[in-house]
Amino acid sequence: MSLTSTDLHSSLKKYFGFSKFKGLQEKVIENILEDRDTFVIMPTGGGKSLCYQLPALMKEGTAIVVSPLIALMKNQVDAIRGISEQTGIAHVLNSSLTKTEVKQVKEDVVNGLTKLLYVAPESLAKEENVEFLKKVHLSFVAVDEAHCISEWGHDFRPEYRNLRSIIDRLGDNIPIIGLTATATPKVQEDIIKNLAMTDAKVFKASFNRPNLFYEVRPKTQNVDADIIRFVKQNQGKSGIIYCLSRKRVEELAQVLQVNGISAVPYHAGFDAKTRARYQDMFLMEEVDVVVATIAFGMGIDKPDVRFVIHHDIPKSIESYYQETGRAGRDGGEGHCLAFYAYKDVEKLEKFMSGKPVAEQEIGNALLQEIVAYAETSMSRRKFILHYFGEDFDEVNGEGADMDDNARNPKPKEEAKDEVLK
Ligand code: ADP
Ligand code: MG
Repeated sequence: MSLTSTDLHSSLKKYFGFSKFKGLQEKVIENILEDRDTFVIMPTGGGKSLCYQLPALMKEGTAIVVSPLIALMKNQVDAIRGISEQTGIAHVLNSSLTKTEVKQVKEDVVNGLTKLLYVAPESLAKEENVEFLKKVHLSFVAVDEAHCISEWGHDFRPEYRNLRSIIDRLGDNIPIIGLTATATPKVQEDIIKNLAMTDAKVFKASFNRPNLFYEVRPKTQNVDADIIRFVKQNQGKSGIIYCLSRKRVEELAQVLQVNGISAVPYHAGFDAKTRARYQDMFLMEEVDVVVATIAFGMGIDKPDVRFVIHHDIPKSIESYYQETGRAGRDGGEGHCLAFYAYKDVEKLEKFMSGKPVAEQEIGNALLQEIVAYAETSMSRRKFILHYFGEDFDEVNGEGADMDDNARNPKPKEEAKDEVLK
């Protein structure tokens, strides 16, 4: 397919109403339109979905989108249907459908109405679905959240490991598009290996978030008081405070409330209705602060979160980056403050001690990296970006002065000791 940039822009406008591509989108889409394997690594919010949605809408046939979560698929299908008159244009094929619904989906696919078919990996593995899809004209297979393939990722799903052999059964030379927000070199290697996409063209966006300010403070007995002081200094601003345990979430939310701060707790122990209510209160700005476990945040897009506090150090730099990434989505200030005490690391180690040895080894390696981050006197941004395989110029790079170490360098001697350690 030979298309000019003008053609692409008019399709973008027609289907999505946007007048400009974000970042690497146009290059990615050109590559997909040429039927080449494509690997897209972009931070959360970077606009990865459009990278496969637009070419799927433009190409002949049906694109399969593999995605790990039914909720994510539903959102996307609703969004796509919102841009078209024709409901059959996007479908989810999964185990939650009734027989009649499955029949309708298959009919739409066979009739060429369906441009995007979202499936969970376990649905794709089903023999009846493989047999059905074999007979369909497929434009490409997009594997979203591709880090689920890797044990080094933050969300390993064994079913992702079988995708390649299933895709091979669906037809010859079906292009594969892998997409992830996990930038660590180890995860990327795993994805390329597992999806056998050594010839794929790789598109990697920068993970630098220059508007985020990174700070680590020692965690003492007075951590609650420190948090209260910080929140009061930032009165009226939206913020998320992450805690490791549900118990701590509830306690801290209460402590904040008693101190006149409008806060709600959030963790997976609440029933769905309560969770939805607290989440809405935060999104609608009825409260300033949500105190939460990591159960909070996936898919939440509040653009003006002004701070993310970690009451406990998270289990990896990857998690820290994802969680702090919810601050400053609108490009405005975002203060990322982590409280760190080594005894919390020991707690995390203990959590892992019941797990299989291989898992423990990976877990400990990841933990050592976040410890090094917390203890470093280097540019924190450089540290994070280095972890993602990206070189950052701590003098002239964008956001170079946006961390505690850059603003208040430690005395030279002390810093030197650390390098030698
Ligand atoms: P990711 O999957 O990379 O986390 P999404 O695909 O969910 O990101 O996109 C994030 C947001 O960016 C969405 O609200 C989407 O509508 C928006 N977006 C994507 N591409 C563009 C564009 N070219 N112009 C404006 N907004 C865009
Ligand atoms: Mg996405």
